[in-house]
Amino acid sequence: EPFIPKIIEVNYIEGSGDKRWSSRDFSWTKELEVNNKKVFGNHSFRPNQREVINATMSGCDVFVLMPTGGGKSLTYQLPALINPGITLVISPLVSLIQDQIMHLLQANIPAAYLSANLEWAEQQEILRELNSDYCKYKLLYVTPEKVARSDVLLRQLESLHGRELLSRIVIDEAHCVSQWGHDFRPDYQGLGVLKQKFPNTPVLALTATATASVKEDVVQALGLVNCVVFRQSFNRPNLWYSVVPKTKKCLEDIDKFIRENHFDECGIIYCLSRMDCEKVAEKLQECGHKCAFYHGSMDPDQRAHVQRQWSKDEINIICATVAFGMGINKPDVRFVIHHSLPKSVEGYHQECGRAGRDGQRSSCVLYYSYSDYIRVKHMLSVGAVEQSNMTSGYSRFNATNSGRLLETNTENLLRMVSYCENDVDCRRLIQLVHFGEKFDSSNCHKTCDNCVKITSFVEKDVTEIAKQLVELVKLTGQKVSASHILEVYRGSLSQMVKKHRHETVRLHGAGKHLAKGEASRILHHLVVEDFIAEVVKKSDFYGSVSSVLKVNEQKVRNMLFGGQRIILRFPSSVKASKPGKCDSISAKGSLASAKLNLPIDIPDQPETEIDLDLS
Ligand code: ADP
Ligand code: MG
Ligand code: ZN
Repeated sequence: EPFIPKIIEVNYIEGSGDKRWSSRDFSWTKELEVNNKKVFGNHSFRPNQREVINATMSGCDVFVLMPTGGGKSLTYQLPALINPGITLVISPLVSLIQDQIMHLLQANIPAAYLSANLEWAEQQEILRELNSDYCKYKLLYVTPEKVARSDVLLRQLESLHGRELLSRIVIDEAHCVSQWGHDFRPDYQGLGVLKQKFPNTPVLALTATATASVKEDVVQALGLVNCVVFRQSFNRPNLWYSVVPKTKKCLEDIDKFIRENHFDECGIIYCLSRMDCEKVAEKLQECGHKCAFYHGSMDPDQRAHVQRQWSKDEINIICATVAFGMGINKPDVRFVIHHSLPKSVEGYHQECGRAGRDGQRSSCVLYYSYSDYIRVKHMLSVGAVEQSNMTSGYSRFNATNSGRLLETNTENLLRMVSYCENDVDCRRLIQLVHFGEKFDSSNCHKTCDNCVKITSFVEKDVTEIAKQLVELVKLTGQKVSASHILEVYRGSLSQMVKKHRHETVRLHGAGKHLAKGEASRILHHLVVEDFIAEVVKKSDFYGSVSSVLKVNEQKVRNMLFGGQRIILRFPSSVKASKPGKCDSISAKGSLASAKLNLPIDIPDQPETEIDLDLS
């Protein structure tokens, strides 16, 4: 009988800014502060750490959105130390787990992990300890595969729980639950079983990926009914963002960029395919850089070797697929270069986030070409078929779902394309809006290419266009996505769009005269300013998530009838060669050839581990 999760009503409680959680009057406050200093060597708490700890120690289920490097581990390691019993931590990779355990043992905190790569005798030893009355471990790490596939582990947890020794359940990298995130792992979906079996044990879910759809999916899958949410700004002021047109000379450009800005410094170059990694690495070696490649078809020893060399600064540059990165904690990464288009804005943000952990200025450069968009799109369709085969055992993710997954992935990719083709808005603003965060682009202080480029603005009245977009959202019954609206508005004839054509015929193609990015800028502006809401919801029984636009009647009334104008800023001097545009046009000319010349190459997934049962 397949497990079909019910859609639950979730009661989110906003934790950030709630004074209750920053109080220093909890019974554990003193102990917290002492141990933070003594055991972890920290002088103070970072933003939200104290608050998260207080909420989880009060017994609430807590969902934490904190950027990479923000200090999420402390929010469960410190409570684990203070609370009696043991904290269960689910973490996606054995390499991540080993790294954490090493640090814990160095701080004299007893911790262990269970995974199939341990010797049988070692596993038995750990299980024996877990069964003893005075179990010494404060933290037990496991991979999600273990929870999903090991009855021995579940029975062990029941036994701990029965003896009141299961103090907390932590889901690290919780976005892996969501197939709409950039790092989906099927076994994370089975973690809902924990809340079912142990409804009164507090759950703490941690992630650095923050879109509303991912959050909703995670909370649903884990079954967190009343959950306190903490989030903080995802802006990284020390990262400098730019998008550069990708030409045939791309590798020369990269060589030059590194030579001029980051010579002999440490960096990552993200490539789309395994073949690309090897080619880019070879070329840069020829140019005299200390460089190696890293991807999913290397054997684990080789990969570990490369990663170690890079960590010890024996090589500076690693050319990698997205398989490289999770849990990388090197503070002095000075640049992250994207040799081709990332698959989503979340993924991009996270990959860039590996630069500048030490707070020092670092560069994030993305080389964009329209033909890469075609390549990625092709890979996604191959990937969707593979993934539906791989996960066909899960009812939430069957073959009929794979079409929808492809649709979502394509939508994520289109957002990334629109990010690249936008040569007006602050890069920070676009990224942060995507995470539902408001950002004033004057706070960028010219640390992105668009803010640097645009020295003066002209203000344009776009009210009439805004009215048409609002009208279109209504005509399509307030049940379609932003990209759908834009397609209709620009006069696309694709299948989905044709379906709605009779209702929308008056406005179909009304925005044809606008430059490609313009309509989408205006629509996004309407969303940011609350004229239109982007609602994320579970769309069906299987729990798939979609986002649709709805008109905020109250706000819109002023614009439609009250004479309110919508003014947007545009660069006053439109340069002769707009990088994004020029490139996309030339690339379109060779679209046919791009399709024919697709390399037969396998898209790389983030590292996954399949664990066998303990028994
Ligand atoms: P995340 O999981 O959010 O990416 P980590 O928990 O790995 O981040 O922490 C990143 C780094 O920050 C670690 O080196 C950790 O020791 C350090 N750190 C965490 N909290 C503090 C603090 N309160 N003061 C100083 N350093 C801290
Ligand atoms: Mg972490
Ligand atoms: Zn900017």
